[in-house]
Amino acid sequence: MKRNYILLIALFSASFVFSQTDPRLYDIINSVSAERIKNDVTTLANFGTRHTLSDTVSQTRGIGAARRWIKSEFENTSASCNGCLEVFYQKNLVKKEEGQRIVKDVWVVNVVAVQRGTKYPNRYIIMSGDIDSRVSDPNNYTSDSPGANDNASGMAGTLEAARVLSNYQFENSIMYVGLSGEEQGLFGGKGLANHAKEKGWEIIGIMNNDMIGNITGVDGVVSNRDFRIFSEPVPPNETEQQRRARRFYGGEVDGISRQLARYVHKTTQTYMPEMNPIMVYRLDRFGRGGHHRPFNDVGFAGIRIMEAHENYTQQHQDIRVEDGISYGDVLEHVNFDYAKKLTAVNAINLASIAWAPPAPTTVEIGGIVEPSAKLKWSKVDGAVGYKIYWRDTTSPTWDNHKSVGNVTEFVLDGIVVDNFFFGIAAVGADGHESPVVFPNKVFR
Ligand SMILES: [Zn+2]
Repeated sequence: MKRNYILLIALFSASFVFSQTDPRLYDIINSVSAERIKNDVTTLANFGTRHTLSDTVSQTRGIGAARRWIKSEFENTSASCNGCLEVFYQKNLVKKEEGQRIVKDVWVVNVVAVQRGTKYPNRYIIMSGDIDSRVSDPNNYTSDSPGANDNASGMAGTLEAARVLSNYQFENSIMYVGLSGEEQGLFGGKGLANHAKEKGWEIIGIMNNDMIGNITGVDGVVSNRDFRIFSEPVPPNETEQQRRARRFYGGEVDGISRQLARYVHKTTQTYMPEMNPIMVYRLDRFGRGGHHRPFNDVGFAGIRIMEAHENYTQQHQDIRVEDGISYGDVLEHVNFDYAKKLTAVNAINLASIAWAPPAPTTVEIGGIVEPSAKLKWSKVDGAVGYKIYWRDTTSPTWDNHKSVGNVTEFVLDGIVVDNFFFGIAAVGADGHESPVVFPNKVFR
C-alpha cells in the first residue's frame, strides 16, 4: 500500500515535470499559415476602404462588405469543426455628437466568434484585430484606404488563430474579435467591453493586435524577431484604498495587464525562443491609442501586441509619392512570415491560458519583520498545484519560482519579504498556468 502510494507520487511528480512544455503548442505554431494570412490581408485591402463611416451596402467596397466577409470566414471555420464557433455581430449606435471623428450617426459593428470552453464557459480570453482603416484625413471615408498593416494584419491574424485553434477543445472560452471604430475613437472596443460587463462575462484578458506585419522601421532597424507587448502598470479604475496600499506593500508595476504581458513574454520565450518579445511599460505608444484601452478602462486585463519597428509613412496616409517616398498602407509593405509569427505568439498564449485553471482570486502575503516570506491564497477548482513566483524588485520578469503542490499556503524559508516581489499562479493537470496574481491582501 505504502509502496503504491510512493509510486503514485513519483508518477505524479514526473508528469508534473514533463508537462512543463506541451507538445500541442509546437503543433499550433507550425499550423499557422503565412499564405492564409496573406490571402486574408489581400481580401481585406481589396475592399477599397474599411473606414467606419464607409459604405455598408456594396458587396465589394466598404466596411459593410468587409465585416460580412469576416463573419463568413468565422462561419467557414466553424463549419469545419462541427459548429465549434458561435459567430455574431455586436453593435452600438454612435451618435454624431460623440466625437469629432463621427461626422454622422453610425452603427459601429464588431464581429465576434466564441469557441466555448468546456469547463469554464463564461471565462474568456480574447484575441482582437481591427476591421476599420483610414487615410491622412481621419474623416475621409471614401478614398482608397487599404489598411494592409493597420490593421488588416491583426484582423487576418485573428481569423487564422481561430482556424488553427478550432482543431482543439479548451476549458476556458476563447473569443476572436474584429473590432470597428478604432480610428474614430476606439468605439468598437468600448462597445464590446461594456457589453461584456453587462453580460457578466469574466474576461481573463484581451490580446489586442494592432499592426503585426511591418519589419522595416522608421528607425532604420529591420527585424523579423522583435515585437512589442504594451501594458499599463495598474488598472485605471482602482480604488483610493488600493492606491494607498500600494505605497506600503508595492505593486506599482504589477497590475493585471502587466501580469498578462509577462505571461505572453514567458510563453514566447519558452516555445518560440527565436523571437524577441519586448515588454514596454506603458499603456500604448507615446500619445497614441489602441483597442485594449477601453477594456482596461472598465477593469479588464489587456495588452497590445505589435511590431517593434513602425514606419509612419505607411500608416494613416493617402496613397501617393512625395519627394521620392511612397506613402500608404499597402500590401507590399506587409511581411507575412512575420505576421505569421506574431499570430503564433497569440495562438499559443490563447491556448495556454484557455487550458489553464483560473488564477486564485485572493493572494495574501505576510512576513513583516520576519526571516521568511509567507503566502496564502484561495483554492482554485481545477488546479492540481500552484507556483510561487518571485523576483528582484528591479526585475521586469518573474525570475524565480517554486512549485508547491496542491496547498493553499506556504512559507519561503529565508526569503525576506522586503527584498522581492511575489505572486501566485494556479497550475492545471497538463501543466498550463494561470497568469500570476500579485498579492491583494496582507496578513500577520
Ligand atoms: Zn491606425
